Amino acid sequence: MNSPIAKAGIAAGLLLCASLTGGCAVNPATGQRQLMLVSESQEIAMGQEADPSISAMFGIYEDADLQQYVARLGDSLAAISERPQLPWTFRVVDDPIVNAFALPGGFIYVSRGIMAHFNSEAQLVSVLGHEIGHVTARHSASQMSEQQLAQIGLVAGAVIVPDVAARYGGIAQQALGILFLKFSRDDERQADMLGFRYMTRVGYDPNEMPEVFDMLGRVTEAGGGRGLPVWLSTHPDPGDREQRINTMIAESGQDFTGTTVGERSYLLKIHDLIYGPNPREGFFREQLFLHPDLEFQIQFPADWQTVNQKTAVMAQSPNQDAILQLTADQGAAGPVEAAQEFANQDGVNAGAVQPGTIGGFPSATVAFAAETEQGILRGAVTYIQDGELIYRLLAFSTSAAWSSYQQTVANSVASFARLTDQSALAVQPLRLSIIELPQAMTIEAFDQRYPSPIPIETLSILNQVELGVRMPAGTLVKRVVGEVAR
Ligand SMILES: [Zn+2]
Repeated sequence: MNSPIAKAGIAAGLLLCASLTGGCAVNPATGQRQLMLVSESQEIAMGQEADPSISAMFGIYEDADLQQYVARLGDSLAAISERPQLPWTFRVVDDPIVNAFALPGGFIYVSRGIMAHFNSEAQLVSVLGHEIGHVTARHSASQMSEQQLAQIGLVAGAVIVPDVAARYGGIAQQALGILFLKFSRDDERQADMLGFRYMTRVGYDPNEMPEVFDMLGRVTEAGGGRGLPVWLSTHPDPGDREQRINTMIAESGQDFTGTTVGERSYLLKIHDLIYGPNPREGFFREQLFLHPDLEFQIQFPADWQTVNQKTAVMAQSPNQDAILQLTADQGAAGPVEAAQEFANQDGVNAGAVQPGTIGGFPSATVAFAAETEQGILRGAVTYIQDGELIYRLLAFSTSAAWSSYQQTVANSVASFARLTDQSALAVQPLRLSIIELPQAMTIEAFDQRYPSPIPIETLSILNQVELGVRMPAGTLVKRVVGEVAR
């Protein structure tokens, strides 16, 4: 391929491309020419800029051993990829949802939710390889503009320090919408192909790849639309992909017997992994929100829809025209100063700051009107001080509706109090426990002998087994231990 003619052809193509768009490059993973608006250094800068926001938004799962394990596997794949020089970073995020995603520049994230659902090292490696493939083939870089990424930083940052403007709908969801770009089917196909390439290069059994698609398919089906794993919404058609990988394996002509599956080594790594939402970070009893780690509680309005996010608790009126949002911040300023600062913002028309006490804590409230893109909003913000923490309860609605929500919101805010319920304070998350079967049994029999506080269907998906199928003696089986917080 080194003939002068071929070179000239490529050069001409590059020139043409450059004059049209200002950017075109040979894709390192595919060898094909590709329109490229961002350079590699820009790509890296984008990833580095967005990573802190992503890490804050999801939280990093606190288990140094598990983080190192995933990073070691990820690094081994990245090292044999076409772009080993990128600053590859692998993180397990503290999110119960089944998810995996990549940022340009080599930032790869897997959720603890997807970690709980893998059954072998080869399965984890196949997903890491797939996400690495999106990066090496520059899928997100070719799709994302710098503006979009800047926006992620902005929006994710806004979850922690929000302002009044543009607050309708889940803020985190907006950020997620930008983050989880839908890749094209071709991109997905290519990432699967690259994932296959990388995992087989380092000696893993690609037959574990279809198992992952099967598991993801079952998770989606069980989700029934609600709690649909984000990974799935961006990675459609697990069934299709399962078929394609099987074809890929057959067509490779390679014999993969004896390659690494790593079932045992993987399952022992996830023994004790937190499973499901972590109630220490807050949970609901009906409309009462209890936060064991921060030791407070608050009653949200009846019939309002609530959601506990990493950095905020949100409640929305049934008509979806009013929002009450709780956030916390390390504040040097007291509640009166914080309220005053809020009142002084551009575009905010505020009344007088009213100091007071709520649940025995110093507080300050101010009513306001604000001009936003959605028109004039009216609302009230209350700051409550508990030691070094300042809580902010921000409520607002359309100008016309505010008078009908004002009292409801005020009652909620006034219910803020120290959490003293001992059972709530002592609550612990559910965890995985890996059990070695003493004899062959079905998952149903296993669940009778070693009960888990989750439905049998969920347990069977978690273990990638079908109901009624006997697992041989010696199989390592996931059990969920602990009590569901209530
Ligand atoms: Zn993908």
